[in-house]
Amino acid sequence: MAFDVHVLGTASARPTSKRQVSGSIIKCDEGNVVIDAGEGFQTRFANQRKNLKLFEKGTTLKTAKIDAVCLTHGHLDHTWGLLPWLQSMSLDNRDSPLLVLGPTSEEVFDSLLNNQQIPDQAPPAELARQFRYWQSLGGNHEALSYPIRWVLGDIENNRWLEFDAQQNSVHQLQGMPQPSKWKNNKLCPLKTNHSVPSCAWMVESKSKYGTFNRMKAAENRLNVEQKGALASGQDIELDDGTKLYAADFRGEPKNGLRVIISGDTAELASGIIDLDNCDLLIHEATFVEDAAKWADDFLHSTATGAARTAVQCGAKHLAITHYSSRTKDSGEPLREAQSILQDSAISCSALSDGDRIIVENDGQIVHLFWNGNGWSR
Ligand SMILES: [Zn+2]
Ligand SMILES: [Zn+2]
Repeated sequence: MAFDVHVLGTASARPTSKRQVSGSIIKCDEGNVVIDAGEGFQTRFANQRKNLKLFEKGTTLKTAKIDAVCLTHGHLDHTWGLLPWLQSMSLDNRDSPLLVLGPTSEEVFDSLLNNQQIPDQAPPAELARQFRYWQSLGGNHEALSYPIRWVLGDIENNRWLEFDAQQNSVHQLQGMPQPSKWKNNKLCPLKTNHSVPSCAWMVESKSKYGTFNRMKAAENRLNVEQKGALASGQDIELDDGTKLYAADFRGEPKNGLRVIISGDTAELASGIIDLDNCDLLIHEATFVEDAAKWADDFLHSTATGAARTAVQCGAKHLAITHYSSRTKDSGEPLREAQSILQDSAISCSALSDGDRIIVENDGQIVHLFWNGNGWSR
């Protein structure tokens, strides 16, 4: 499998008896990334790990394998569980480094860079404020068993800065850092549209070479070395001077796979719809149609807005989440989203807490519903 996405909270700001606030994990072959960590994330993470142990032998969620935390914005239902969970991982004696990434505004970025205070007009939920607090409250290598980097981005202008551990200062980075061990997967922020600086997060696997044409190699009577060279992308010249081009021995390159988690946003966020394809789009659907005005007022999406976004970014599958506490049952937003998608090839499902979505290497997508006793299709 290419990705195994665990969605541990599907409520919007106010949790309900069945739904907790935001927090997801994307597992890929090189490591795992947490997208948002609202209140109680440490408990939900531990529960999911326990459930995997009980019901899905062979699949684990190791804290040591979490390479990055990507925050979509500073609202507390997406961030307030981070520090306690960082401390839980320290009690588990984690020692691998952790990268924390999040968005800020152009103004706050400039103030930080000039060693000025965070401007008063910046919202209370500004991530720069939270990063400073968390660092001072023990979110640093001295207090934790593992090194941690706090990195904020001005997403619009692709500028990145890192909070220094000792002094109250920052330094600018060349670009957005990636988890240090990752070679075949990439994290990518996508600009969204919310009441505070925000972004969606995409994990993208590297595109792969097309299949090597063995028949053609046999017809040309190539030896092992010649085949190896062509297979690794090198053109070769035969003894008689004939040139053979690697590209002629490969099928069409296979696209990398893309998983996106939107965070909170109005529909048709520019960073998402700029894409022309993605495999899995997990998109907020805070409101149903009869509350569409609220979606506009608070820069959230309706279920139909999530569906319109899925169409625009060429998604193969849309999974909706982040329901308002007024939404009693996800059947209603699901039907609304499906009504927009009925003439498209896009499949759609509604997430509940604990659900997983698997993206296979061939692009097949399976929603695994948590049923209290394991996962069912
Ligand atoms: Zn939210
Ligand atoms: Zn929000």
